[in-house]
Amino acid sequence: MQDFQKNSDIFNLLSEGVSEGIIVVDAQQNVVATNTSTEQMFGYEKGELLGKPLDILIPKRYLANHSKHVNKFIANSDKRQMGHGRNLYGITKSGKEFPVEAGLNPFEFYGSTYVMALVIDITERKNKEEELSHWARIFDESLNEIFVFDAETFKFLNVNKEAQRNIGYSITEMYEMTPVDIKPEFNEENFKKLISPLLNNEIPKVKFETVHGRKDGSTYPVEVHLQLSELGKKKVFVAFILDITERKNYTENLEKKVEERTQQLTEALAVEKELNELKTRFLSLVSHEFKTPLSSILTSITLLGKYTQTDQQPKRDKHVATIKSKVKYLDTILTDFLSVERLESGKVNYKVEEFPLSKIVNEVVYNSNMLLKSGQQIHYPENIDELNINFDEKTLELALSNLIHNAIKYSPEDTTITIKVTLKDTNIIISVIDQGIGIPQEEQKHIFNRYFRAENALLTQGTGIGLNIAKQHMENLGGSLEFSSKIGVGSTFTLSIPNLKTS
Ligand code: ADP
Repeated sequence: MQDFQKNSDIFNLLSEGVSEGIIVVDAQQNVVATNTSTEQMFGYEKGELLGKPLDILIPKRYLANHSKHVNKFIANSDKRQMGHGRNLYGITKSGKEFPVEAGLNPFEFYGSTYVMALVIDITERKNKEEELSHWARIFDESLNEIFVFDAETFKFLNVNKEAQRNIGYSITEMYEMTPVDIKPEFNEENFKKLISPLLNNEIPKVKFETVHGRKDGSTYPVEVHLQLSELGKKKVFVAFILDITERKNYTENLEKKVEERTQQLTEALAVEKELNELKTRFLSLVSHEFKTPLSSILTSITLLGKYTQTDQQPKRDKHVATIKSKVKYLDTILTDFLSVERLESGKVNYKVEEFPLSKIVNEVVYNSNMLLKSGQQIHYPENIDELNINFDEKTLELALSNLIHNAIKYSPEDTTITIKVTLKDTNIIISVIDQGIGIPQEEQKHIFNRYFRAENALLTQGTGIGLNIAKQHMENLGGSLEFSSKIGVGSTFTLSIPNLKTS
C-alpha cells in the first residue's frame, strides 16, 4: 500500500507538471484519476470527475462509436493515438464541445486493466488550420490570377487555379518556369530592373501593363500588381494579374469612337467654316458686283434725263446701250448665283430634249453682241444649221454664254472670238477661241475653283463663279469643260457634249 501511495504521489507530481489533460479510466471506463489540466479543460472542480463514467466527457452523438472503439482498443492493448483521420470532440461540464486529440495508453495495475488517456485541446490549432485552409481556398479560388515566385531564382513557387487555367501550363510545368517565360515583352535584364525598387524596399508595389504568353502561343493583355512578401525565411514575389482583354477592347473601341466622332466633328466644323466663308464671300461679291453696274446704270439714267435735245439722240443711244449691257450683266451674275444655290441644294432639274444647236448659238451670240468691245467680232460656226442635239438647253446656254462673255471680257478691242463646232465620236465639241490676255500657267490649275480669279483678271469685273458652275452642270450631264491658254496669246475653252438620246 505504501508503494501504491508512492506511485500515486509520483503520478500526481508528474501529471500536474504537464499541460495535457490526463485521464485514467478502469476497465468499466470510469474515471479513476485526472490531473488539473483535464479538470480545467472540461470545466470540473478538483476531484469531481473521479468515479464518473468517461462518457460524460464525450458529446452524446459520438458515444456509441466511442465505447466500441475503446473496447476494441483495450482488447488489442494498443498504445496509440486515437482518432487518427477522425475529428474527436470533448464536452465541458457546461455542454460546450471542443476538438481534442487523444492518445491512449493501456496498462495493468494490481491485476486490473486501466487506460490512461492523454487529451489535448486543439481548438486553437483547428482554428489556425481552418484559417489557413480558408486563405488557401481564397488563393486557389480567386478569379484573379495569382503567381508566387522566388525572389532569388524567379522560379514559380505557387500559381493559383485561375492562372493555370488561363496561361495553360500545369503547376508542375510552372515550377520550372519564371515570369520572364510568360512575358514576351520582357527579358531577364529588364524584368530585374522593374522589380529592383521592390527588392530595395524603395516602393511597396509595382503596377504595370504587359502581355502574357499562353502555352498555346496566344497572348492576352494583363495588368500586373507585384509585391514582395516572405515565405518563412524566403523572400518571394506575389503577383496579382488582371486579364484586361475586355477592358482593353472597351478602351480601344471607345478610343476609336472618340476618334471617329472627332473626325466627324472636324469635318462638320470645316464644312460650317467653309459655308460661313462662302456666305461672307457671297455677300461681299453681291454688294460689289451689284453696286458697280447699278451705279453706272444710275449715272446713265441721270445723263439720259439731261439729253433733251433732238440732236442728242446718239448720246441717248449710248447710255441706253450702257444700261442694257449693265442690266444684262446683272442678269447673268444673278443667274450664276442662283445656279450655285440650286447646285448646292441639289435642286437642279435637267430636261434633256432634242433641239437644233443653232438655236442656242444664235441666242447666245445675239445677246453677247451688245457686250462686244469696239472692233471685237464673233466668228459664227459654219455648218451647224442641220445639227440637232439631245441635251439640257438651259445648261448649254449657261455654259456657252459664260464662255463667250469671258472671251469678250478678257480680250482687248479689235480681236476676234471664234466659235467652232466639230464632231468627235458621238460627242459634239464646241470651242470658244479668243485672242485675249490668257491665263497665267501657274494659276491654270485653280481656274475652275469657285470664286477663283486669276491675277491678270482682277481689273475686269467678275465673280469667279461662272466657270465653276458651268463645269459642274456639264459634268452632271456627262459632258465636260476644258481649256488651254497661253498668257498674252489667248485661250480656248471647249465644251464636250455627249449626244444624249431622249427617252
Ligand atoms: P469671272 O469671269 O466672273 O471672274 P469665271 O468663273 O467666268 O469668273 O472665270 C474665272 C477666272 O478665269 C476669271 O476671273 C479669269 O481669271 C479666268 N478666265 C476665264 N475665262 C478667261 C478667258 N477667256 N481669258 C482669260 N482668262 C479667263
